[in-house]
Amino acid sequence: MVIAVSNQKGGVGKTTTSVNIAGILAQGGLQVLLVDCDPQGNATTSLGIAKGDLDNTTYEVLMGLSDAHDAILNTGRERYDILPAGEHLAGAMIELTSAERREWRMNSLVEQIGAKYDYVLIDCPPSLGLLTLNALCAADYVLIPLQCEYLALEGLAQLKGTIDRVQEQFNSRLSILGVVMTMYDGRTNLAQQVVEEVRRYFPQRIFNTLIPRSVRVSEAPSYGQLIAEYDPQSRAGLAYAQLGQEMLRRIGKKVAA
Ligand code: ADP
Ligand code: MG
Repeated sequence: MVIAVSNQKGGVGKTTTSVNIAGILAQGGLQVLLVDCDPQGNATTSLGIAKGDLDNTTYEVLMGLSDAHDAILNTGRERYDILPAGEHLAGAMIELTSAERREWRMNSLVEQIGAKYDYVLIDCPPSLGLLTLNALCAADYVLIPLQCEYLALEGLAQLKGTIDRVQEQFNSRLSILGVVMTMYDGRTNLAQQVVEEVRRYFPQRIFNTLIPRSVRVSEAPSYGQLIAEYDPQSRAGLAYAQLGQEMLRRIGKKVAA
């Protein structure tokens, strides 16, 4: 199962959600690969991996310069591997423009290694460019994190349009797994209003689990830790565990249907 975590807005919780949900799934006994597909390499750094030391990354694999098996690293956690990224991944966006099968590189990558994993999560960059297109062409599902703030829905129609276009032109099995509201602060009216608005817009797709705003979540990566390691009993720690369960139930239902 391949899940692209995507939203062209930056700072909405894509990386935080990818890194932590991958951890929850791995803790639950599933074999998980997280593909860092953002040139900023935040997922890689969050897991305590120094980007400067890497010879083989997502870039080399997408460009056909390295085998995926040679680039994948274990994160130091059971069943949880990562394909790390560094800054030169930004070059792939340009270099791929004129390359053969330019939309299908990630799909080939996943086909190479997919059998080893129950779940492959792809942490997408904050744009709808060729890297995100590659992720969507490789994915079964899209998970969309939305930040609970003013203008949260802005840009969502564009993302939805891109997903529809990929479904029609490239990858008919792609569907939206769900929208997860992040950085929720229940004390503010605004956060509640935003959730209501998204519920109206996406009644079937919004997850019941809301990820609360919590300094524990933003502190964890500075120790190279997941929230499940840093403070599993915090509200955010419990919320990510609950979101993992909700995702699995949704996927189970869809597969069974
Ligand atoms: P994206 O990958 O979409 O750019 P990130 O996951 O990197 O977003 O999150 C952006 C910033 O917000 C980071 O500094 C992160 O630590 C912080 N953040 C993410 N989720 C939460 C949360 N639930 N509570 C508080 N801070 C958060
Ligand atoms: Mg990110």
